Amino acid sequence: MTRDLKIAIAGGGLAGLGAAHALRAFGFRAQVFEAAPELGEIGAAVNTSPNATKVLQAFGLGEEIAAVGNVSPGILTRNMQTGELLEFNDLRKQPLRWGAHQYSFHRADLLNVLAGSLDPATIHLAHRLATIEERGSSVALTFTNGAAFEADVVIGADGVRSVIRHALYGDDNPTYTGQMVWRSLLKGSDVPPEVLEPNGHVQWVGPGCHFIAYYIRGREVVNIVTQEDTDKWVAEGWSTRGDPDEMLRSFPNPEPRLEKLISIVTECSKWGLFTRPLTENWGRGRIQLIGDAAHAMLPNAGQGACQAFEDTYILARWLAATADPVEAFANFRRIRIPRVHAMQRISAANARFKHMRDAATQKGLISSGKRSTSGHAEWIRGYNPITEWDKDSTVPLIETPA
Ligand SMILES: Cc1cc2nc3c(=O)[nH]c(=O)nc-3n(C[C@H](O)[C@H](O)[C@H](O)COP(=O)(O)OP(=O)(O)OC[C@H]3O[C@@H](n4cnc5c(N)ncnc54)[C@H](O)[C@@H]3O)c2cc1C
Repeated sequence: MTRDLKIAIAGGGLAGLGAAHALRAFGFRAQVFEAAPELGEIGAAVNTSPNATKVLQAFGLGEEIAAVGNVSPGILTRNMQTGELLEFNDLRKQPLRWGAHQYSFHRADLLNVLAGSLDPATIHLAHRLATIEERGSSVALTFTNGAAFEADVVIGADGVRSVIRHALYGDDNPTYTGQMVWRSLLKGSDVPPEVLEPNGHVQWVGPGCHFIAYYIRGREVVNIVTQEDTDKWVAEGWSTRGDPDEMLRSFPNPEPRLEKLISIVTECSKWGLFTRPLTENWGRGRIQLIGDAAHAMLPNAGQGACQAFEDTYILARWLAATADPVEAFANFRRIRIPRVHAMQRISAANARFKHMRDAATQKGLISSGKRSTSGHAEWIRGYNPITEWDKDSTVPLIETPA
């Protein structure tokens, strides 16, 4: 039986489509409004850790994601200049240590799985939200194509530059974090296997930067994603076409495996990373922000999309459990904000640790077990949103402000 709450979701990215699934799982039928004329994700990879994989499984997508995802073998970390092995959390020995797999996907594959099993009549493409107005017991939306929609509740999944966030809270534009990223996809057959040995998922850490490469779609594609501290980001937006020679110069004196890998890159894009300070401004009344619209974070705990998926399940669960949606949203924020703030803090702390300029101290902290470059914290991956949706989060104190 379909519940009769009229729900609008602004944004058809991973958070928006995830929310449509979560709501469907609890008997709601939501309408998704996406600005782009087609659903699409940038050509790159994304990982779901077990906490988020459990959500996708709860949507009934377990088999579909298993068909397109690579089970992560765990990240092997090397020193960027010497190639010395610093850390290896070999997940192959315990693939279900946290109750579900960690997967690596081509982003398009994950988005296709999410979109494929939703009713196309509920996905409205080329609908860019223009205005949002709170009207007591409803919320009125207008779109730049002239369409309008009146909803009982609105879920803002419209990304880091959210129009809804702007309408609610005014000018809190995301700011450049001082970190930029290179991204590239290579043909797996072009990459000599020894570069990524022994497990196919390698991270090199160096002073002020790191470089990650791993297989997706079996061994068909190698995904490259890097990050470096730099004040030199000048572009207005956050993504532009990159120059492979400039990319090469960003990683001076690389060890031979990494040097070989970079030499294969012929096309790349570069990204400025933008976030905003931690905030409890996640929505009010009948409007709830989720995903990057609520809590954009640095990618260094691999949790931006994972937290969006956690959001979607817990939000839908509260809506199903509570007669008053305003109360449901307030409960959602009470449960979610402490956990997500901890995630934003650990992401910033991880970036700083990976980019330490003192390699000896970094190595010492890893070998003594005090720090990790792979972010396999128990409280992140062991969390189960399905069973803990109404429990206050237990998170460690993370001193580093994001
Ligand atoms: C380099 C890098 C690597 C990452 N790796 C990982 C990872 O491995 N694991 C992980 O969990 N996370 C990762 N992340 C984070 C993750 O990509 C994001 O957190 C996630 O994609 C956010 O999804 P979203 O749906 O909230 O936002 P978005 O993906 O930005 O989607 C927003 C959608 O809203 C639409 N939209 C925007 N404005 C409007 C409007 N006015 N009206 C209607 N629609 C609108 C957009 O077109 C878009 O489709 C990474 C991020 C980066 C930068």
